Amino acid sequence: MSCSQPLVDAFDRRISYLRLSVTDRCDLRCSYCMPERMQFLPKKEVLSLEELHRLALAFIDRGITKIRLTGGEPLVRRDVVELVQALGRRLGDGLEELTLTTNGTRLAEFAGPLLDAGVKRVNVSLDTMDATLFETLSRRDRLVQVLRGIAAASAIGLKVKINTVALKSLNEGKIPYLVEWAHAHGHDITLIEVMPLGEIDGERVDHYLPLPAIRDRLEERFTLTDLPDDTGGPARYVRVEETGGRLGFITPLTNNFCASCNRIRVTATGQLFACLGGAEQVDLRAALRSDDPAARLAEALDTAMRIKPERHHFAHARGATPAQPRHMSVTGG
Ligand code: SAM
Ligand code: SF4
Repeated sequence: MSCSQPLVDAFDRRISYLRLSVTDRCDLRCSYCMPERMQFLPKKEVLSLEELHRLALAFIDRGITKIRLTGGEPLVRRDVVELVQALGRRLGDGLEELTLTTNGTRLAEFAGPLLDAGVKRVNVSLDTMDATLFETLSRRDRLVQVLRGIAAASAIGLKVKINTVALKSLNEGKIPYLVEWAHAHGHDITLIEVMPLGEIDGERVDHYLPLPAIRDRLEERFTLTDLPDDTGGPARYVRVEETGGRLGFITPLTNNFCASCNRIRVTATGQLFACLGGAEQVDLRAALRSDDPAARLAEALDTAMRIKPERHHFAHARGATPAQPRHMSVTGG
């Protein structure tokens, strides 16, 4: 299918990947992501299922070929499977891939319906295999459910990639074990540097871990072979020769990857953020609810392409306000 006018930004980057948040709510409270008493958006501000669907179709019409549903926790939104089913019908018809990022707590229940709707792979966030640390980090006792969710997804043939935020003095010592566990179960695993997005209780800088240092430490134990960059995403992958599995590094702070950025993000209220680390945004909900949604949406997407910045600028500093006031749970990971 040809699209009406591809999305190309001012730096000649072709935008083909949409991360669409379906809710800012979550059943966990990961301490690096949000405060315990997180203020969630009033439900009436959140796009309806029908609006999310129309929006996604408009993006597919403009050449978006990959959609990742995210949040907050996408699987806490009651009608999310209906959206996945509706979008799944566009697979092979403009849409090439439909995926989801989840914390896994409800994956055991949803893995089957997701697979049936055309989802082939999911990213599951898992920062530790230790139940006590899991509860400390996420402020909820849910490790068993998450592991059950991962196992259920794998058992029916959903490909699972593990995402792990590397956290100094928290999970840092157990990262080699997580890598071994993931690979032994057939999962790729990607490590991520914590980003200064949104206020939390405490200081992220206390737990910020630059990934080059982690890679050096992993190399004392494993043989890491660089793999060609074929994902188009921010992760740089290596093969761990001892396990045979793939390990990715996402380094928004120590190694900027913006030159190859192919993505945009839309919040559950329809705000398009042109860059995860920037404030540049356009209001797609207003466009959707206008008298002429098609024309207003087209204009809004053209504006987004004009304002998408060349790169993000992140830094951690004690006592500093975060790079952006919004949390990852608003823009989606
Ligand atoms: N709730 C789902 C989950 O946890 O997978 C989807 C949304 S969550 C915001 C997406 C990803 O962002 C997760 O892998 C999470 O660990 C990560 N994340 C959250 N806050 C972050 C931060 N400040 N810096 C880096 N990654 C963060
Ligand atoms: Fe929820 Fe995901 Fe944020 Fe954890 S990282 S609080 S699971 S949105």
